Amino acid sequence: MRVASAELNGCRALYAVAGMAALLLLGACGSDERALAGAHVTVHLEGNGTVCGGTVPYLDEAYGLLSDYMRVPEGRRRPVDYYFSAEASICGEDALGCAADDGRRVWARSVDLVHELAHALQHRASGDELHVFLAEGLAGALEQPSGRLITAGDYERFDEALAWTLDKVKRRDIAGDFVSYLLHVHGFERFARLFTRAPRGSSVSALTNALEDVYGKPITALVQERLASGLYFPEARLGVSECWTEPLAAQAEGWSFRVSLRCADAGVIGPVTLKPERQEWENIRYAAVEVADAGTHAVWIGPGAFSVDVAEPCAPTAYPVLERHRLNSAPSGTTLAVVDLARGRHAFRLAAPSAGANGGDSVEDPEDLQVDVRMMRMASAVDCTSGSVSIPPDVARLVLLGRPGQAALAVAFSIREARVAELTWYGVIGAEICKGACGEGACQAFNTLGSPEPELELAAGSYRLRFQYANLPRGLAALTFQTP
Ligand SMILES: [Zn+2]
Repeated sequence: MRVASAELNGCRALYAVAGMAALLLLGACGSDERALAGAHVTVHLEGNGTVCGGTVPYLDEAYGLLSDYMRVPEGRRRPVDYYFSAEASICGEDALGCAADDGRRVWARSVDLVHELAHALQHRASGDELHVFLAEGLAGALEQPSGRLITAGDYERFDEALAWTLDKVKRRDIAGDFVSYLLHVHGFERFARLFTRAPRGSSVSALTNALEDVYGKPITALVQERLASGLYFPEARLGVSECWTEPLAAQAEGWSFRVSLRCADAGVIGPVTLKPERQEWENIRYAAVEVADAGTHAVWIGPGAFSVDVAEPCAPTAYPVLERHRLNSAPSGTTLAVVDLARGRHAFRLAAPSAGANGGDSVEDPEDLQVDVRMMRMASAVDCTSGSVSIPPDVARLVLLGRPGQAALAVAFSIREARVAELTWYGVIGAEICKGACGEGACQAFNTLGSPEPELELAAGSYRLRFQYANLPRGLAALTFQTP
């Protein structure tokens, strides 16, 4: 989204522009305002508002990455003023943020809106406003994690996306997906040729003509090319903000890292809007790893009330990761997640509840905001499973994360002492647990449709756990162990 603003008697005045009509939304004099200046981005706070330690560096880094990506000339890399306010009214009731004033200012209800920085820097790169479909597609391709995955079915509404105008916001994620494809396969230089050919306000036919001109084929053929590519862009984007950072070094046995999610600490970004309508916020940070061997990986996530997105692939992938594998680690023990990962870079998104947008005065950070994460390729000991793992007593949950297109996931696990576990599932159509690492012993099978979720008494020994997935965005099945 974009609005225009003007200086009025030294105060900021903000107008939403829809066609010829301009509406005054807000005039604000920054009397009780504080500013945190980075190299490129200055974050302005109102009242006793606060941001976490890594926020300004994160926005600064995103500014640098996006400027390089969009070839913004050095002379046009002027600072951006980023106004952080929890209030919704500045950019419109539903908008999380907006860029204004030829890219000089961003207003945002969350401190991680790389989307609006992308708008601001696109303006620096092109010197002008782009057609809404292209502008939103570009910002969508380069933004923070937030969208959803687009499939062939969504492209049936591609015409609606093309007909997008400022006052009629349409199909944001189709635009993000399509532009992600254009950028990934054909590069930014070619996309930039659209800057002069499809400015803001162009008709749909002018937009499609420009696309045909630049890419050398009719728009329908271009869409066909995108669909036939077999590429998936997680959350309809390129994953710039969390994937282009330096990945963590791998040890022989995989990755092991401890991170703090305490708001004041460096590297922590926040407050990030979780549910703006409910004023819920979180502190986040990213950690990237480079997976050398594709296959089933085990991820240990230490105890605590944290939300962890397990290692999203950095775009694109050859298989669809539709939504984040949002995983809350068990409060009283470690969660062990089992997930298939493609070769290449993946990013964790780790989160903790935040004190919120209005300052840390009312809510204290929880005492212990450290989270330990360990990840390794599972031993593929036997042909009958994707891998095997020995489960230590401190593991409270074993979670199998399926992905669409994956018919089934089977792991062998062993326990040293008898344990009682509850079997739960989502997006699973069948489950089976058998004695023996290859399932050679007695089996219990569950039809998960409408069946109660069973409690299992497991003797010490080896088991094979197998799930059939239902081709939903997320397939998730878990064994939750009772504490001994
Ligand atoms: Zn936008």
